[in-house]
Amino acid sequence: APAILWFRRDLRLGDHAALLTAAKSASRVLALYVLDDALLKPSGAPRTAFLSGCLRALDEQLSGRLLVVHGDPVRAVPEVAEAIGAGSVHVHADTAPYGRRRDQEVAAELGRRGVDWVETGSSYAITPGRVTKPDGEPYRVFTPFFRAWLRHGWPSPADTSASTVDWIDPDGLSGVDIPDAPDLGSMTLPEPGERAALAAWDHFRDEALPDYDNRRDRPDLDASSRLSPYLRWGCVHPRTLLAELGDEDEAFRAELAWREFHADVLWHRPETARRNYNTKFDAMKLETGPAARSAFEAWCQGRTGYPVVDAGMRQLLAEGWMHNRVRMIVASFLVKDLHLPWWWGARHFMRHLVDGDLASNQLNWQWVAGSGTDAAPYFRIFNPTTQGEKFDPQGDYVRRYVPELAGLSGKTVHQPWKAGPPDGYPAPVVEHAHERRVALERYGELSP
Ligand code: FAD
Repeated sequence: APAILWFRRDLRLGDHAALLTAAKSASRVLALYVLDDALLKPSGAPRTAFLSGCLRALDEQLSGRLLVVHGDPVRAVPEVAEAIGAGSVHVHADTAPYGRRRDQEVAAELGRRGVDWVETGSSYAITPGRVTKPDGEPYRVFTPFFRAWLRHGWPSPADTSASTVDWIDPDGLSGVDIPDAPDLGSMTLPEPGERAALAAWDHFRDEALPDYDNRRDRPDLDASSRLSPYLRWGCVHPRTLLAELGDEDEAFRAELAWREFHADVLWHRPETARRNYNTKFDAMKLETGPAARSAFEAWCQGRTGYPVVDAGMRQLLAEGWMHNRVRMIVASFLVKDLHLPWWWGARHFMRHLVDGDLASNQLNWQWVAGSGTDAAPYFRIFNPTTQGEKFDPQGDYVRRYVPELAGLSGKTVHQPWKAGPPDGYPAPVVEHAHERRVALERYGELSP
């Protein structure tokens, strides 16, 4: 009987473990993608647009043989299986909360109809849940997780280049067109798809990887890989990257491991997508009234009067992406200068990030907020001005995204209030030194 390869967060054909298993089990395979409103509706325009581009790229690689259907996968996947008389459905495991629930239901429904459900690998080098302490408990701190993750190891990339698959022509089946990308206005996104992902990787590996450790914290330089949207959608598998790293590339390996660590935490504690990992923080006094709403609005629009914060928030609106150092600075500002709930900021990020990923986003937010695993200690509070001066020393990053400040030279751009802020640029919405004291007081009120 033919097989179905159900694509989800693995929109590529290379290093595709589930494709290899499908090809071994059947000579004829149907490539399927299900547009699921439960995932699409909260996605935000940048991710929807990027997804649409990735589906087009995949369909092109498959010579137009990707079947796209729209509906609840619990009904849609078994219906397609029945229509082609499939014997098995192949996937990479989805380890996030919604995907786990959905897959259990789909697998049960297929089982009732005598169709096998086959999971091979996941979007991670090591499937979340597998790296545990010797007593079976999950790691709560990154560094020991990283060591155990390295010791555990992972298989080499799945070589799919030689597997000859006879892709089933979906013409007679009822599918829908790949949806058009929503209008993004002036926002520009990276090119979608596997080829673009591999080209971005080649470029980064050859040009920036050797200096990555020294330069990755500098948002003014183009020094990080910008692979996050591709990893998010599985246009490339992390194993493909890991296989090409040398001993000297430990810093980059560690960043990939952070992605795996957060996914592991979410696998063990799915509720932390919405709630504090450290429940002590449930008692933290937060601002949520009308003044908090307008401060939040200023933060979202990049009009806080703190240049590096505003540059970051505007980079997010312009590109659907923000540099990691600046993500930390703007998140710290929301939590510790504005005293807002971290999940307000996390929701805004998820709406606008093209790499928005539940595990990486929510748990990085919790890391900054101090409520997560292995969190930055709450009392370590970023000063947005000195952070800007340190990591954007010439002010180029700020000037790129905040045109009102383009006339200020060098690092004076980080303290526009000194010369009197230029026309149209707001005065600081709060005073950092004061808010820092407030944050520390509130932290001090939590039980030890
Ligand atoms: P590089 O520096 O080139 O790193 C390579 C890859 O490692 C990244 O593509 C990413 O997959 C992974 N990685 C690096 N740092 C982290 C990290 N701290 N946590 C998890 N994975 C990491 N990353 C997302 O992919 N999706 C998110 O929704 C997301 N939300 C974030 C929210 C906050 C508040 C913070 C502080 C960080 C968040 N990150 C998120 C992590 C990180 O900022 C981005 O992965 C990184 O900026 C992507 O750029 P890059 O591909 O050039 O990274």
